Amino acid sequence: MQKAIVIGSGPAGLTSAIYLVRGGIDTTVISGDQPGGQLIYTTDVENFPGFPGGILGPDLMTRIRQQAEKVGVKFSDSTVTGVDFKSNPFKIKTGSKEILGDVVIIATGASALWLGLDSETKLKGKGVSACATCDGYFFKDKDVCLVGGGDVAIEDALFMTKLANKVFVINRRDELRATHILQQRALSNPKIEFVWWSIVKEILGDSHVTGIKIENVKDGKISEIPCSVIFITIGHKPNTEIFRGQVKINSNGFIEKVTKSQTNVEGVFVAGDVFDYEYRQAITAAGSGAQAAIDAIRYLESKKD
Ligand code: NDP
Repeated sequence: MQKAIVIGSGPAGLTSAIYLVRGGIDTTVISGDQPGGQLIYTTDVENFPGFPGGILGPDLMTRIRQQAEKVGVKFSDSTVTGVDFKSNPFKIKTGSKEILGDVVIIATGASALWLGLDSETKLKGKGVSACATCDGYFFKDKDVCLVGGGDVAIEDALFMTKLANKVFVINRRDELRATHILQQRALSNPKIEFVWWSIVKEILGDSHVTGIKIENVKDGKISEIPCSVIFITIGHKPNTEIFRGQVKINSNGFIEKVTKSQTNVEGVFVAGDVFDYEYRQAITAAGSGAQAAIDAIRYLESKKD
């Protein structure tokens, strides 16, 4: 039987494994050191179809894993320490063990970058979020703060203007990194107030965010902005270190697709946030997992001919 190895167990990895097994491919998922991926750290998920009352992120991932186990996906609850894609079968190392695969799907995801404040850690999921499109809906008609000045920050700020009362964008310089057109839209939007030359010193609140304390880096002045949520949108770090030198990785560290969901290595496919810096939703990750599995099955079939 042909074997597939899926590296990563978020929505992308688990969905690809379900499709692979149902396509007749013996599949092992290596779950990694954060089984379930980023959804494990979220609370309510209200935009994943099929759950009209919403579902908690960890519960959603438990259900998807149960579904994968039920169809016959095997799991190795270990972390990949190295890969060798130079010859087929591909070699995946997990500590002292080596697992061989005819195809590999890389679904290791990306991790949001955080400010590194103790108050941020304490209030994560309680008004501290890294994703406005995921969590913004919970803050209708509220005052919200957002840190960053890149494309994601400005797109998220514009998105929040449709829901929130007021959006404060905290930027550590007096220039934005975002593309010109996004800057123009944001700068002319009356609901957005830019707070230039400022960094967040503390996120205020005990059980939920009530505001932020900021410092103006020019004059050292400390001030507070009351708000119900703070979105930390300062970038994502794709989990690609172990693939360096094995597959093509772009200058931002994300894996590049060459054709459909295939990387530059025939037989090695990619799914989810580890390549997709743009959409980063559970449902789009799951969708790309299905695509990668279908591409992998077709690839294996083409090899039989
Ligand atoms: P970026 O790296 O482009 O921007 C990060 C932003 O966060 C910058 O404004 C940066 O400030 C700020 N920042 C970083 N660290 C800190 C910190 N510790 N404290 C305060 N501010 C900080 O990340 P994005 O996630 O916005 O975008 C990632 C990639 O995805 C980019 O290449 C982007 O172009 C792309 N993208 C494209 C889209 C599109 O084409 N529609 C949509 C979304 C993303 P500073 O500028 O001072 O360094």
